[in-house]
Amino acid sequence: MKIEIKEISHPIFNGKEVRLFIKRIDKLHPFVSGNKFFKLKYNLLDCEKQGQNTLLTFGGAYSNHIAATSFIAQSKGLKSIGIIRGEECLPLNPTLRFAFENGMRLHYVSRSSYKEKTNANFLEALKNQFGDFYLIPEGGTNELAIQGSEEILDFNDSQDYICCAVGTGGTIAGIINSSNAKQTVIGFPAIKGFEQLDRDIKNWTNSTNYKLINDYVGSGYAKINNELVAFINEFNAIHNVPLDAIYTGKMMMGIFDLVAKDYFPKGSSILAIHSGGLQANQGMTERLGVSLPLE
Ligand SMILES: *Cc1c(COP(=O)(O)O)cnc(C)c1O
Repeated sequence: MKIEIKEISHPIFNGKEVRLFIKRIDKLHPFVSGNKFFKLKYNLLDCEKQGQNTLLTFGGAYSNHIAATSFIAQSKGLKSIGIIRGEECLPLNPTLRFAFENGMRLHYVSRSSYKEKTNANFLEALKNQFGDFYLIPEGGTNELAIQGSEEILDFNDSQDYICCAVGTGGTIAGIINSSNAKQTVIGFPAIKGFEQLDRDIKNWTNSTNYKLINDYVGSGYAKINNELVAFINEFNAIHNVPLDAIYTGKMMMGIFDLVAKDYFPKGSSILAIHSGGLQANQGMTERLGVSLPLE
C-alpha cells in the first residue's frame, strides 16, 4: 500500500535542525478514516470467517469508530448496531446521522451502563436484546485491531521518532510492535486517565521503546480551546493538511511545542501519523460554532 508522506517545513524546524514528516493514512479511505481502516481489517475477516452477519460496537456521539464501522458494515452487506454513550439528542449530530444513514441501529445507554461495556452479563443482555453479533470493542481495540495497526508503519519509515495520537491505545500498540528498537514511539493521549492507558498499552505490546506525553490533552477528551482551533486552521492554511480537533490537532500542537523546547535532538527526524478523524470536525463546528477544516 502506497501511503503519502509529506514533509512539513517550518522555520522552527530549520533552526532546530529537526525534520518533520506526516504520514497521511487519513487519505486511505474517504469514510473509514485513518487508523480505523487498519483496526477493522482483521476484525472483518474474522467476522466473515465466523459467518456472522451483524457487527455490534460501542462509541461516543462523535466517534470516528462508529462512523467507520457503520460505513464498512453497509458496504459489506452486514448489519450494524452502535451502542452509544449518553442520551439521544435530536436532531442527530453529523456522526450519528452518517451512521444512521448507513443503516446502523443506534442504541443509547447511560454513562453508567456504558462503563459495563466489557462486562459479560451486560454483553449477554445485549445478545438477548439484539440476537447474535460479532463484537468489536469500544474504539475497535482488540488483538486483531493491533495486528492491523502493525501495518501502519512499513520498513521505509526510518525516522527516529514516530508520533501518534492515542485514544484506547490500540493503534500505538500496533505501531510500537512494528517499530524498530532504535525508534522511539511518542503517543499523545487525547483522553485523561494516563495510568490505565499505559497499563492497557503494556497488555498489547512487549516493547518499551515508547513514551506517552500527557501535556497536550488540554481540558480533556474532545475539549477544545481557541488556541487549538487557531493552530489547526493555520496549519491547514500553510501546509494544506487538515487536522481534527480531538486527536491529530492536539498531537501536532504537541510536536511543535516539543520542537520549540528542544525535546528532539539536533539532526533527528520525526514521522507523525495522521490517523484521520476529520468527520468529527463537522460535529464540533456545528455544536460549538467554531470553524475547522472539514476535508
Ligand atoms: C480512534 C482514533 C485515534 C485513537 O486510536 P486508538 O487506537 O483508540 O488509540 C487516534 N486518532 C484518530 C483520528 C482516531 O479516530
